[in-house]
Amino acid sequence: MIDTDLTKFLPDLIEVENLFSDNQFNIKHRFKQNGNKLVNTITVNGQTYAYGNFVNDLSDEIVRTRLTKRYAKLSLYKALSKVTGKDMPWGALTGIRPTKLAYSEIEKNGSFEDFFVNVMKVSEQKTALTRAVIDSQKPYYEKNDNNTDFFVFIPFCPSRCKYCSFISADIKRSNQHVDAYVDALIEEIRQSADLVKNLRSIYVGGGTPVALPNEQLERILLELDKINTGVEFTVEAGRPDAITKENLAMLKAHKVTRICVNPQTFSDQTLQLLGRNHTSKDIFEKYELAKKDFSVNMDLIAGLPGEDQKVFEDSLKKTIALSPDDITVHTLCIKKGSYLAEETNRLPEDKVANMVEKSHQILGENGYKPYYLYRQKYMAGNLENTGYALNGKVCVYNIDVMEEISQNVACGANAISKRIYFGGERIEREASPKDIPTYLGKIEQIIDKKRKLFE
Ligand code: SF4
Repeated sequence: MIDTDLTKFLPDLIEVENLFSDNQFNIKHRFKQNGNKLVNTITVNGQTYAYGNFVNDLSDEIVRTRLTKRYAKLSLYKALSKVTGKDMPWGALTGIRPTKLAYSEIEKNGSFEDFFVNVMKVSEQKTALTRAVIDSQKPYYEKNDNNTDFFVFIPFCPSRCKYCSFISADIKRSNQHVDAYVDALIEEIRQSADLVKNLRSIYVGGGTPVALPNEQLERILLELDKINTGVEFTVEAGRPDAITKENLAMLKAHKVTRICVNPQTFSDQTLQLLGRNHTSKDIFEKYELAKKDFSVNMDLIAGLPGEDQKVFEDSLKKTIALSPDDITVHTLCIKKGSYLAEETNRLPEDKVANMVEKSHQILGENGYKPYYLYRQKYMAGNLENTGYALNGKVCVYNIDVMEEISQNVACGANAISKRIYFGGERIEREASPKDIPTYLGKIEQIIDKKRKLFE
């Protein structure tokens, strides 16, 4: 429980408290400004700590708000770190885009490392990871609000994985919605086409887009043909059990350049436990089918229930042996709404941290460089998801979306369009309903609002 006199920052302070989630705290926070000094006094379970921070200029209201929030969070982080004896890998950072913050520091001060390590208490290791990601992005990073990425969301899967907290529905139980969903989606794509300027990439995500019947998937691809100017075109095929020779041939015919074949693990025991209706043999077979014609992204998850370092490393080595263009290592993130939230036997955080660190080392030894990263709430050990790619093989869409450096015109349920204004460093968003019936019922308003966002 947090009692603070900066009530408007209470959600931000709760985020910091959640970093130390295994503990129960009774927190009192008092804030005072003495001239250019911001003083935060934190009492945790009866112990009091006071932190003072001098700032240069507080005359600008936006700057004052930003710094007040920053130092309140940081003070709470330091107090909780003292009380628990724990340092977090990302220090007091709670945002999902650490690299974006690093870029903004570079723009203001020429570098971010001192700010990360000495102010925000980010570990040397994570600061070095952020630097490596920024270096890898250099040839592709294009901050330009005249560029557009186009996103399409397909909310159906062949079955529901136990760790899943997305809105994706089991396609076998959603037959009544599939045709209507594709009709509405096509209308939305059609009415979004003229909002696209300087197309950078197309990404069809899910869910499992290839879980759709071929004729419905093809209708969507035909609509996207009209937008595609020959850019990177990714389809998150996803689950190997939904990939077939036929749907791959169709993707190729519609100029898809990249697909995701996501193992998550090569342990058959874990795959079964997760409710994924496929085996490791399917992963090898579908990868071989896909590799002939596409760049391939593959995802793994560190910290899956029942897995130890050895099982995780075995999956990682098997993935590397296949030599996909991109390997993203996720840290298990169990949210409310997933079956695992109730029944999981979670690995200790330091074990997951070891898996993540070792994967960084092994991938580096095999020519994979980190090129994008993001964090999520409820993530084991407060770690991160990191995408690695072989030289010249990055997925541009991942960079654009993670760094928020171009417009995102997004279609489908749960899709969030973003209009970026670099002049004012501002982002406006328009989110579609997550629930399919609501999306179908409001499709006209959704299209209307999106057009207003970009016009
Ligand atoms: S494939 Fe992905 S979206 Fe589909 S159920 Fe599994 S975790 Fe959820």
